[in-house]
Amino acid sequence: LTRVRHPKLRRSPHYATLTDKDISFFERLLPDGRAITNPDDCLPYNIDWIKTCQGQSQLILRPKTVDEVQAILRYCYERQLAVCPQSGNTSLAGGSVPVFDEIVLSLRSLNSIGDFDENSGVLIADAGCILETLNNHVLQFGHTMPLDLGAKGSCLIGGNVATNAGGIRVVRFGSLRSAVLGLEIVLADGSILDCLTSLRKDNTGIDLKQPFIGSEGILGIITRVALVCPSAMSGVGLGFFSSSSFENILSTMRLARKICGETLSAIEFLDESTYNLSLKNLQKINNPIESNKFYILVETMSSTDEQAKTTLEKLANAALEKEFITDGTLAQDLTQYKDLWSIRERVPEALVSDGYVFKYDFSLPPSRMYKLVEETQKRMKQFSNVRNVTGFGHLGDQNLHLNITVKNGYSDEIKHALEPWLYEWVAKERGSISAEHGLGLHKSKYLQLNKGKQSLELMKQMKNMFDPKCILNPYKVIPYQID
Ligand code: FAD
Repeated sequence: LTRVRHPKLRRSPHYATLTDKDISFFERLLPDGRAITNPDDCLPYNIDWIKTCQGQSQLILRPKTVDEVQAILRYCYERQLAVCPQSGNTSLAGGSVPVFDEIVLSLRSLNSIGDFDENSGVLIADAGCILETLNNHVLQFGHTMPLDLGAKGSCLIGGNVATNAGGIRVVRFGSLRSAVLGLEIVLADGSILDCLTSLRKDNTGIDLKQPFIGSEGILGIITRVALVCPSAMSGVGLGFFSSSSFENILSTMRLARKICGETLSAIEFLDESTYNLSLKNLQKINNPIESNKFYILVETMSSTDEQAKTTLEKLANAALEKEFITDGTLAQDLTQYKDLWSIRERVPEALVSDGYVFKYDFSLPPSRMYKLVEETQKRMKQFSNVRNVTGFGHLGDQNLHLNITVKNGYSDEIKHALEPWLYEWVAKERGSISAEHGLGLHKSKYLQLNKGKQSLELMKQMKNMFDPKCILNPYKVIPYQID
């Protein structure tokens, strides 16, 4: 089912090959089966969530402490062994699995929750804590995590920071980067870069943690994070509306901004084919409203339930009156709230059940977002094995998820019809070829479409400075790391 989709990539001879002596070292360092070598047990760490790539790592390491992470890297650096950092392995860009035989450094067991400061709302946690676990933890103090995404039950906070994950609440809380106050990082040579401050304000020279946020594990291993967590709102409203055109969806978004104002917390959209796939492929998803070509979810949050719900009702009435929407429903209780959200959050699952998925994640001006889906639909008409071309995403952040599902597995022909055409189309519109998922393995070679020569050169120099032997997550993010 899965294989590496980059036939031109070759394993670099620059890296050492794992020996029995290496394995013995790691088995001594990580007792209790935390140096995994059994091929069956290694397999899940070698395959990505959407099953588009598979590595052949023969060694998975699961450190429990920062000292152990340091000892692993010191050894790998010395021996020039390549390392693939992995958290929840929910990456949608092929970034979290090895390409060849890189050692997988899994952060799952580094998972202690540290202090939560009720005065500042700052949480300190190990990188291996599950996002949802942390959210439940801070909820006890009346706070919430500054991000929320469909993979929250599996992704780890270190992985979130390493990808500068977006998700459904960027409209409200901004990007994750703005909530990261401090990081502890283990560098490629095993030394520690301690930037773990909990301060909102700290203008003391260059902010060294920033390059590690969103650079997908190519500069260092994030081992601990300090995050500011906003107060949890007790009032929440959620509306789900259908609409006849994308223009009307955009008009509803503009109206939501005007009417719901500061209570707005999420604006998401789905097109008809995405929605139908969710209804078809997922259990427990029922159609709550009259069908149409597009759907929009609008969420509000406020300190009072009344305000959160009243602004949504106003929005629903105004949008109906102006005929921007044709039908809709407002969640009346927590069960309905969760059911409505799951229509959107479980879309990636519905897509995977539809066949092999060519997955794209673009930032585009709102007026051009759906044009790209329509043009891709036209372009894919020639292929009888294409099942669906769907568009959905974080409308409030101009983030389109474009997906093409294919029966009978991966097809080179389809890939070549999509790439580089899609990336060039987006670059021409001055959009981003990766809004939130990162470049990983799949998109690194198109980075030059979004970044000028000088930016690319500086990125390479930074990589060289932090990881001169290039052992961290090779073949990914920045093209041609190993010259
Ligand atoms: P992994 O997938 O394990 O790793 C991601 C990258 O970070 C890899 O390159 C890895 O090498 C590197 N890395 C991991 N941990 C560390 C570390 N401690 N130090 C240094 N580097 C590290 N993403 C969004 O942005 N928004 C969404 O709304 C969203 N929704 C999703 C919904 C579903 C159902 C799924 C499956 C995925 C979704 N994603 C989304 C993608 C993914 O969940 C995010 O990118 C997430 O932040 C990855 O976290 P992870 O713990 O799984 O990291």
